[in-house]
Order: sequence, then C-alpha cells, then structure tokens
Amino acid sequence: MIDQIIDFNKTFVAQKGYEKYVTDKYPDKKLAVLTCMDTRLTELLPAALGLKNGDAKIIKNAGGLIITPFDSAMRSLIVAIYELGVEEIMVVAHSQCGACHMSYSHFHHVMKARGIKDETLDTIRECGIDLNHWLEGFPDPSAHSQGYHRPRLYYRLRYRCIGRD
Ligand SMILES: [Zn+2]
Repeated sequence: MIDQIIDFNKTFVAQKGYEKYVTDKYPDKKLAVLTCMDTRLTELLPAALGLKNGDAKIIKNAGGLIITPFDSAMRSLIVAIYELGVEEIMVVAHSQCGACHMSYSHFHHVMKARGIKDETLDTIRECGIDLNHWLEGFPDPSAHSQGYHRPRLYYRLRYRCIGRD
C-alpha cells in the first residue's frame, strides 16, 4: 500500500497538485482542534466545522484525549498556543468511537497473542507508564463531552468541548 501511495505522491507533486493547498504554518482562525484519529473524520470533521486547509491546527489521537498534562496532545497544544498563535481550543468527540470502553485488559490480551512478552510490558511500567491509565478510553461518549480527559485550564483561553452520544 505504501508503494502505491508514494507513486501517487510522485504524480501529485509532478502535476503541482499541492498548489491549491498552499498556506503558512499559522492557523488563520487561531484555533486548535483536538479530536479522534478515526478515519471517518478525515474529511468529515473539517467539512462539518467549515474548516479549510490553513484554518486550524488539528491534533489527533485515539479518542481525542489528553491522558496526562505532559502527553503529546498537550505538547502539541502548547506549541500551537505559544508558537503558532492559537487562542481557542475545541475538543471534538464523535459517535461510535473506538476509544469508548477501551481498556488495558483488552490490549494486554491482544499484545500477548502477538507475542509481546511480559518483560516488555514491565519495562514500559518501569519507565513510569501506568498501562491501565495509558490505554484506558472513556466510559461513554457523553463522558468525553463532559470533559473526562479535559485539558486543565493552564492557559487563559476559550476552551470548548463538544461531542455526541
Ligand atoms: Zn474515535
């Protein structure tokens, strides 16, 4: 699949398909959106929010969650705020999210089935990662929209969390 994508990209570049997307690194709407990596949202979310290329920093992970104050989602938000001029943050959940009811016990089972050894998981724990918390989703979509993993307001910013049941 990746070879096909690279071939497509060569043609895209040769035909200057990128020209209609040219913008700079600063979000025109001074907005960051934290949302889920779900493939159903790839085109749907910008369309649903009326966002075009260059309007917002869109940060994605499984569930659109901030797990700790020091995780990569928060790091991206800090860069967006302090380097890129973001003034508002939206956290957007969606229906039928795979992160809903996600649990470490499930991941432990499938990791073991793929040959991951307990020593590897022990090493992760020894690095300070609480696997139960790290691989935990949220109990239901309404919990997400109610701020289950809401970024704490370390910054004086407008912050809005929206979601669907
Ligand atoms: Zn999701």
